[in-house]
Amino acid sequence: MKYDDQIYRPPKEFKSLLLQVTSGCTHNKCKFCGMYRYTTFKMESLEQIESDVIEASNDPFYRYSKRVFLLNGNPFVLKAERLIAISKIIHKHMPNVEVITMYASVKDIENKTDEELKLLKEAGINDLYIGVESGNQEALEFINKGNTVDEAVREMKRLDKFDYNYYAMILTGLMGRGVDIAKYNGQKTGEMLSKVNCRGIFPMSVTLVRGTELWDLHAKGEYVEATEFDRLVELKEIIKNLNPEKTALISSAHNSNTMFVKGIIPNDRERLISEIDEILQQSSPEDMQGWIDRKRIRL
Ligand code: SF4
Repeated sequence: MKYDDQIYRPPKEFKSLLLQVTSGCTHNKCKFCGMYRYTTFKMESLEQIESDVIEASNDPFYRYSKRVFLLNGNPFVLKAERLIAISKIIHKHMPNVEVITMYASVKDIENKTDEELKLLKEAGINDLYIGVESGNQEALEFINKGNTVDEAVREMKRLDKFDYNYYAMILTGLMGRGVDIAKYNGQKTGEMLSKVNCRGIFPMSVTLVRGTELWDLHAKGEYVEATEFDRLVELKEIIKNLNPEKTALISSAHNSNTMFVKGIIPNDRERLISEIDEILQQSSPEDMQGWIDRKRIRL
């Protein structure tokens, strides 16, 4: 299998075949993100992709795989016809594959027509992970996300129209220190995700990465990191304000989060809030600050 760069994949895809179809991120401007900072975006050749799929189809571990996760960066940026060609290669050699999934940006969805979204879904591209980050417009502007809150909602609604499974990845702590800003961010993110029907909501928490603009701002004293207390308050506020039409899984199973919570929204909302409240009441902000050594977290 050909892998050019460091691989990033969601925790849920730990058993999936990881297939490189692109390298790098076409946006590459989010202030907090160092994942593809020094990687020039490029597409993998269809010949190489087919050779990798054939190799996987002969591997006892992957031969019967049901999920394929396309690497790297934002492969959904590829034109629909190329994604469909990749899907055909996968299904030709690995007939057991049911789900082809990948990271997608809001702009990548916006750049597909309705007809293309429909064809992609029919081609088995039926799962997308979207870096939504926040429902607070000010936060999206601060981090250079490259899309507005309204655009994110509009594009997720288009995915709803074609019955895609998709997952919203969100980031607590983006706007730095302060309980009030944490509450506001949480409220706006919860409200935004209530307007759409994502299958899963995966919170992470912003962590400074050397070489990023956020790191530099922090080094100059122009950005003060959110406390662990702030981050947990924000997570609670997100959950409190989540009220989507359909049920959604929420799971904070990521090492950047202050606390692990998992449940179905809205069914488990009260339980999740009371679990967070218990921690907020039992622990002092000073104690909580020692729970995570963010210097050791790699994002
Ligand atoms: S967060 Fe996502 S969209 Fe933003 S630069 Fe990183 S990989 Fe690209």
